[in-house]
Amino acid sequence: MADFEVVVIGSGPGGQKAAIAAAKLEKRVAIVERRNMIGGVCINTGTIPSKTLREAVLYLTGLNQREMYGQSYRVKDEITVGDLGIRTQHVIGREIDVIRSQLARNHVAVLTGSARFVDAHTLDVVDEAGRGVKVTADKIIVATGTRPARPASVEFDEETIIDSDGILHLQTVPDSLVVVGAGVIGIEYASMFAALGTKVTVVERRERMLDFCDLEIVEALKYHLRDLAVTFRFGESVAAVERRARGALTLLESGKKIPAETVMYSAGRHGMTDELCLEVAGLTADARGRIPVDEHYRTVAPHIYAVGDVIGFPSLAATSMEQGRIAAHHACDEPLPGIHHLQPIGIYTIPEISFIGRTEDELTTSQVPFEVGVSRYRELARGQIIGDTYGMLKLLVSPEDRSLLGVHVFGTGATELLHIGQAVMGCGGTIDYLVDAVFNYPTLAESYKVAALDAMNKLRRVARFEL
Ligand SMILES: Cc1cc2nc3c(=O)[nH]c(=O)nc-3n(C[C@H](O)[C@H](O)[C@H](O)COP(=O)(O)OP(=O)(O)OC[C@H]3O[C@@H](n4cnc5c(N)ncnc54)[C@H](O)[C@@H]3O)c2cc1C
Repeated sequence: MADFEVVVIGSGPGGQKAAIAAAKLEKRVAIVERRNMIGGVCINTGTIPSKTLREAVLYLTGLNQREMYGQSYRVKDEITVGDLGIRTQHVIGREIDVIRSQLARNHVAVLTGSARFVDAHTLDVVDEAGRGVKVTADKIIVATGTRPARPASVEFDEETIIDSDGILHLQTVPDSLVVVGAGVIGIEYASMFAALGTKVTVVERRERMLDFCDLEIVEALKYHLRDLAVTFRFGESVAAVERRARGALTLLESGKKIPAETVMYSAGRHGMTDELCLEVAGLTADARGRIPVDEHYRTVAPHIYAVGDVIGFPSLAATSMEQGRIAAHHACDEPLPGIHHLQPIGIYTIPEISFIGRTEDELTTSQVPFEVGVSRYRELARGQIIGDTYGMLKLLVSPEDRSLLGVHVFGTGATELLHIGQAVMGCGGTIDYLVDAVFNYPTLAESYKVAALDAMNKLRRVARFEL
């Protein structure tokens, strides 16, 4: 008999939910995690610290209150990394406690160390002192996540030239910052530092950023970031980043030189598979360290599953959790229907973005007709009360049956608000429901009714012309 029926490697969102789901199905379960990494990248270096930092920045800078109280409004004039760190450490500590307690309540054994395959059913769990313990398992779920990619042309020094993990160890809030890579992580941190008053330059190889999002909303975000003194260098590649006495110099292939106190390199992540000895279990990873899986999250070895960032797109905590739950159910012979085709995207820039379903560009390219219904926060009483005059909600509606094809939100509470649209879409609802529904007043949720009415009126107008 194996030591455990299910062993999960990695305690990030994917691993945690896999372990707990397997335990709820009454299996003997263990989870392997390195010292001081319970909760994974999500709790320790990724989602939770970055979102807590954002909250601290918004509170201390008073940014969202300036519409009301004037551009000089601040809660604290000199914001230090100490001010920001207090909140982050507090939340990380609490979250780790919650996870430990959930694992304990569900009788999941926590094995501390780094796991590697010895054979297809055996893992060696090696602690910091190099002591190894062998454990056997019927089923294994790999949820080892990713680490920031580090190109050789960049002289990382953990102080001046850093990756996104290094942001959390900065000693001061820099006067100037170069962010290399305008992906989600790069742009989220760019907007936080811009809000703190740092002069930010974003360098991106592509001509556009966040090209999977609605173009109009990305344009609105760029306008806001430029307003916070962010400079964008699109279509530019970094040749090298060099350490200098007063900071770092970012050299672009076009010949430009950008001096800055700090450079954050945020151009991609690499799957944490190098140390797993995958080959002894008959597995391989691709050049970016990702493990291929089928629709049940099974690898080529049918008793080994992989979930979360280590399998690649979309690399979000939210999806990783669901993948973990689905993989565990499959591994325990109680399969679930599979992941829902509608997955929300939340981007915690300042202001935030969230969407679900399709974009205008996608629909146009695939020749799917749609009508647009828009609501602007400044036309809502709640928008005026909170001083958000730029936010908007956009519904993409099918003229055929008035179903929702996409929901796009920009502004305060976007990531929360989106889920109303998700619920309507997921239940196959139409804008008729949103037109007829009564929303609490004054709320931002009311924007659904306004946007639905807008779309309905436009559809009616087209219908009249067709008579
Ligand atoms: C700065 C930043 C901000 C983010 N913001 C968001 C956000 O707002 N919303 C969102 O949904 N997602 C966000 N993400 C992404 C999110 O953090 C990841 O999608 C999520 O953490 C992936 O979960 P995971 O289960 O794959 O594992 P991870 O959280 O990556 O954790 C993997 C764990 O496996 C452990 N491990 C690795 N190898 C071994 C081994 N050999 N033995 C034992 N343990 C091992 C690691 O120590 C680590 O703790 C963000 C990421 C970053 C970096």
